[in-house]
Amino acid sequence: MSNSRHTKVLIIGSGPSGYTAGVYASRAMLEPILIQGIEPGGQLTTTTEVENWPGDTEVQGPDLMIRMEAHARAMGCEIVGDIVTSLDLSKRPFTALTDSGTTYTADAVILCTGARAKWLGLPSEEKFKGFGVSACATCDGFFYRGQEIVVVGGGNTAVEEALFLTNFASKVTLVHRRDELRAEKILINRLEKNPKIETLWFNEIHEVYGTDAPLGVEGVKVKHTKTGEITDIPAKGVFIAIGHAPASELVKDQLELHSGGYVSVEAGSTRTAIPGVFAAGDLTDHTYRQAVTSAGMGCMAALDAEKFIAEQE
Ligand SMILES: Cc1cc2nc3c(=O)[nH]c(=O)nc-3n(C[C@H](O)[C@H](O)[C@H](O)COP(=O)(O)OP(=O)(O)OC[C@H]3O[C@@H](n4cnc5c(N)ncnc54)[C@H](O)[C@@H]3O)c2cc1C
Repeated sequence: MSNSRHTKVLIIGSGPSGYTAGVYASRAMLEPILIQGIEPGGQLTTTTEVENWPGDTEVQGPDLMIRMEAHARAMGCEIVGDIVTSLDLSKRPFTALTDSGTTYTADAVILCTGARAKWLGLPSEEKFKGFGVSACATCDGFFYRGQEIVVVGGGNTAVEEALFLTNFASKVTLVHRRDELRAEKILINRLEKNPKIETLWFNEIHEVYGTDAPLGVEGVKVKHTKTGEITDIPAKGVFIAIGHAPASELVKDQLELHSGGYVSVEAGSTRTAIPGVFAAGDLTDHTYRQAVTSAGMGCMAALDAEKFIAEQE
């Protein structure tokens, strides 16, 4: 049997931006409903140590997200384990249909559906994710001080990450399956001048290998894309930098997108082009992509939604 509910503020997504929006919207007495989606807690539930969340010198990603959920609940946010399957932003109240069959109507919607790092899809990559394999140099570079690192990719992100990682690593090997980088010329110049970086052309990762107890990476085997020759590269860290995919499917035909699918918001705010629809976190941000910046945008979105609702009333 279908079931319909109305809320002033519907928050879609349960990463740092969603839960922070939940805390702020609850404290503004807006009685928000937050739909968690397929990955309750978001991307941080897929990692281990987080060392850059202010107030915690070190915290496990999944633990931090359990605390954020509890915080949002304690403030009065209703948290629902469901997935939004379609969203109609053409008229107010906005309408969201969910996987369970419930229809939500909302005066304001805060989109917090995040993004996903793209992975190679190798079983050995999966095995060492969070234990030497990472998709975020800003998050994890610090763990590899004085160590050898491999970066995989050939675009701006890969080159930027390789350059950034030379602040920590003794050596960075950039593995690229072609013989040309797709990065901006200025970045390529910097890469070529950096004595710590070696680029391995026409190679792709064949396998990540390491120890089981404790779980940790010792290196990668790369395969030449033309000759099939396998080479062993010792490394303690492997950074996959082949791009990110923002989760904008629900709104891709309704809102303006930028940089390959990120939702556009007005500079300095979380307002989209549709009044009453706000977007926060990695869904809008292809530059910073951090838990703390996402949480900051979640706060902004709730404050923007509060102002919008007050103006309607
Ligand atoms: C392996 C890894 C390690 C990282 N380490 C760090 C770190 O150490 N420090 C740091 O600051 N950042 C780190 N990050 C980045 C950080 O996790 C992200 O910047 C942050 O999680 C983005 O938060 P968000 O709220 O935008 O959404 P996300 O965390 O991306 O969450 C998106 C949410 O949207 C939900 N959703 C998606 N579609 C729907 C739908 N249709 N209906 C309902 N819900 C939906 C999902 O279920 C999920 O809950 C790491 C990322 C990864 C992948």
